[in-house]
Amino acid sequence: MQEVAGSNPAVLTTKLNNMAEINIQLPNGVNKSFPIGTTVGEVIESIGVQSSAVGAKVNGNLADFFFEIDCDSEIEPIKINSEEGLYFIRHTAAHIMAEAVQSLYPEAKVTIGPVIDNGFYYDFEYSRGFTPEDLEKIENKMKEIVNQKKPLTRKTVSRDDAIGIFNKDGETYKVEIVNDLPSDQQITIYDQDGWYDLCRGPHAPSTGFVKAFKLLSSAGAYWRGDEKNAMLQRIYGTAFWDRKELKGYLNRLEEAKKRDHRKVGKELDLFSIQEEVGAGLVLWHPKGSRIRRVIEDFWREQHDRYGYELLYTPHIANIDLWKTSGHLEFYSENMYPRMEVDNTEYQIKPMNCPFHIMIYKTDIRSYRDLPLRWAEIGTVYRYERSGVLHGLLRVRGFSQDDAHIFCRPDQIEEEVLGVLNLTILFLKTFGFDDYEIYLSTRPEKFVGEVEVWDRATDALRNALDSKGLEYEVDEGGGAFYGPKIDLKIKDVLGRAWQCSTVQVDFNLPERFDMSFIGDDNARHQPIMIHRAIFGSMERFFGVLIEHYGGAFPLWLSPVQVRIATIADEHLEYGEKVHQVLKEKNMRVETDFRNEKLGFKVREAQLEKIPYLLVIGNNEMESGTVAPRKLGGKNLPSITIEDFLNSIESELDPQTWREVE
Ligand SMILES: [Zn+2]
Ligand SMILES: [Zn+2]
Repeated sequence: MQEVAGSNPAVLTTKLNNMAEINIQLPNGVNKSFPIGTTVGEVIESIGVQSSAVGAKVNGNLADFFFEIDCDSEIEPIKINSEEGLYFIRHTAAHIMAEAVQSLYPEAKVTIGPVIDNGFYYDFEYSRGFTPEDLEKIENKMKEIVNQKKPLTRKTVSRDDAIGIFNKDGETYKVEIVNDLPSDQQITIYDQDGWYDLCRGPHAPSTGFVKAFKLLSSAGAYWRGDEKNAMLQRIYGTAFWDRKELKGYLNRLEEAKKRDHRKVGKELDLFSIQEEVGAGLVLWHPKGSRIRRVIEDFWREQHDRYGYELLYTPHIANIDLWKTSGHLEFYSENMYPRMEVDNTEYQIKPMNCPFHIMIYKTDIRSYRDLPLRWAEIGTVYRYERSGVLHGLLRVRGFSQDDAHIFCRPDQIEEEVLGVLNLTILFLKTFGFDDYEIYLSTRPEKFVGEVEVWDRATDALRNALDSKGLEYEVDEGGGAFYGPKIDLKIKDVLGRAWQCSTVQVDFNLPERFDMSFIGDDNARHQPIMIHRAIFGSMERFFGVLIEHYGGAFPLWLSPVQVRIATIADEHLEYGEKVHQVLKEKNMRVETDFRNEKLGFKVREAQLEKIPYLLVIGNNEMESGTVAPRKLGGKNLPSITIEDFLNSIESELDPQTWREVE
């Protein structure tokens, strides 16, 4: 959420009550004097950009045209067609929607209507849910309000007045909100020619600024998100600065719906999540499992190459282990309840780390033994509220592609660089080239020594720099136990997904009293680095499904080739082709049904099978196959051997992208 000038007393630090003039610094370094109390709108009018501006930044904070400037300030107009301009448009659209709802359904009570990513919503108290027909009516009413270009005004009111106004209107939620405001909070009402709302702004100067909007859906939502409170009716919408932008967004939304991994996963029979099994618990069906096996095989192969050892550890452990690790104390709200066995309490694991540490501790380690790189595809269970569960992306049981590196302090940089190399190799192999990377540094509360923190943070930074990766620094955003790098991957629709993490840990080695013998023959504490590349197999699979819309590259595809016969007399030859491909370890299926070829082709397309090999008289007689590539045209008939040669690079995770 952006800082809003009207509610931020810090903006007003240099109150100049005795001076009649204030100095305003405008863009291009121009300075101008204005009477104190001049509004942002007046300043913008004076510089002649009123038509293209929807608001301004006053000393870096968002402010609308109504904001009165009472100190020397720097002002930068915000254009309608900018990311920040969207905030004004969407917030105003939320008010317009609320006015439309109340004019059509006068019993509806208003509550709150914030701007969110990609749009806005407003929650109403109403006796029933809003139907798609309601949304259409509301949208039409909104268009009327927009066309009227109703000017907005902003009024500061006393607390008693605000309570009086909203009490009179029967807006009990607004009264509750006013009562909850801190006593020094300025209370403002935005009025759009008769309809008004308690709001701190900022808003567009008139309803006419909302040129392109769309209501998207409705849903129930509890007041203040608490299920003990009243159920409200929420309407989601979005708004953009012009119709073209809106259309582009709606198309992307449509495309995202088509690619939704829950929908594709069902259509392609990849996985399921069933109430009878439990919320957030994933069943991998045979075809999904085939993909997972391909991913895991590649994962193991590369971990071997990068000097990792692979581990297996149990799913539960004695409660004492989780006491030592601190999970019981600091992480318990994410953990499942304990179970008792033979008078001893056990805990199902939310993390794999303590097990790897216990393996480390089975021997005396020397500085020459380090680094140790230990990886495990470890299944963990974490409690998530049922409301936040979402397909494969947010689950309760998942397998992390986890690894822990135990190293000397002087090895951090090299090890992190190795992790980054492996991470980029993996992500590129799976088709992801765009990343958002964050480096999070020491927070206010931390364990360990500042000097060690600084050295580790520098090591992370140097590793990123030497890879030439662009990143943002999240100052103070690190965990209390060490600095970290987070990497989000961007999918084909430009959406970012958190997957990879490299996290330095000064805490667990201390808690578990880990050590190695240095070249000085003294005991030293090793550095522990946690890292995951996919994050979890489930989540990464969900992202993969959406990225490819189910049309996986050949090397990942659960079915690579399907053989389709034209008529029954081709069965025998079809079976021969089938056997040859199976011997070559291809994931191959047959469609020998007595159906029209056109039907078989359409089905193979719906199932997103990369190659359909058609077999008819011509192929049978010449000992060939007629390949048909998904989304492509028919290729000329070729021998099985030539077909296999032609797809060789596509089958190899290391070379398939060169074919793209
Ligand atoms: Zn508002
Ligand atoms: Zn870990």
